[in-house]
Amino acid sequence: MRPLVAGNWKMNGLGASLAEIEIMAADVNGAPDGPEALICPPATLVARAAAQAVGRIAIGGQDCHAEPSGAFTGDISAEMLKDAGARYVIVGHSERRQFHGETDRDVAAKARAAWRAGLSAVICVGESEAERDAGRALDIVANQVRNSVPDDADGARAAVAYEPVWAIGTGRTPTNWEITQMHAHIRAELAGLLGAGGRDVRILYGGSVKPANAGEILALPDVGGALVGGASLKAKDFLEIFRAASRKV
Ligand code: PEP
Repeated sequence: MRPLVAGNWKMNGLGASLAEIEIMAADVNGAPDGPEALICPPATLVARAAAQAVGRIAIGGQDCHAEPSGAFTGDISAEMLKDAGARYVIVGHSERRQFHGETDRDVAAKARAAWRAGLSAVICVGESEAERDAGRALDIVANQVRNSVPDDADGARAAVAYEPVWAIGTGRTPTNWEITQMHAHIRAELAGLLGAGGRDVRILYGGSVKPANAGEILALPDVGGALVGGASLKAKDFLEIFRAASRKV
């Protein structure tokens, strides 16, 4: 499986930040057998970023509405992202679940919307700190996978990102054992949900991935790439993580 290194810029980035994508694109060779690079800038930059990345780096949205168009002020459809040059969209990020009340059902509808528009979906799951402390992490995440990943997902159209909420932007990460255990658990859940097709769905790890820990995390079994927040804003850091993924190819 080709690893996917995805950057989520969140609500960060103005036109000047496109210079970072230019540096990334110059370094990522876009070879079909190397890792895949994806940057999800804010929606305002998607079209310009896609024009700049010239196919070497895929560009994605950070969210989409489930409907193709309509009276949904402020929202963006998967079709609009596709039209702007996106190839991917992140759905169900914990910040969307937390601050916008998105449910697993909403997330599954958004993943289907992505496919309708011809985009691949990065479907995020992950437990809170209280859920982990209560010993419920495996059950919570399995339940999110069952209800957020549509049962006709496949490796070309979907990746799952395991992002423990308590590790996002905190500098804290689970132990290697905890990541391995959770990724194996998600793999088993995907096999139950999707049958043999579940084997091809990449499972990314996300939460405080940086150049210093990327090599170790990406080497773990069933870690098919990374979803990177803060460290994806600077080309230098993102490229170091991308190079760590190259060692897995
Ligand atoms: C994220 O926002 O998906 C994320 C993983 O953030 P960070 O890498 O900054 O923890």
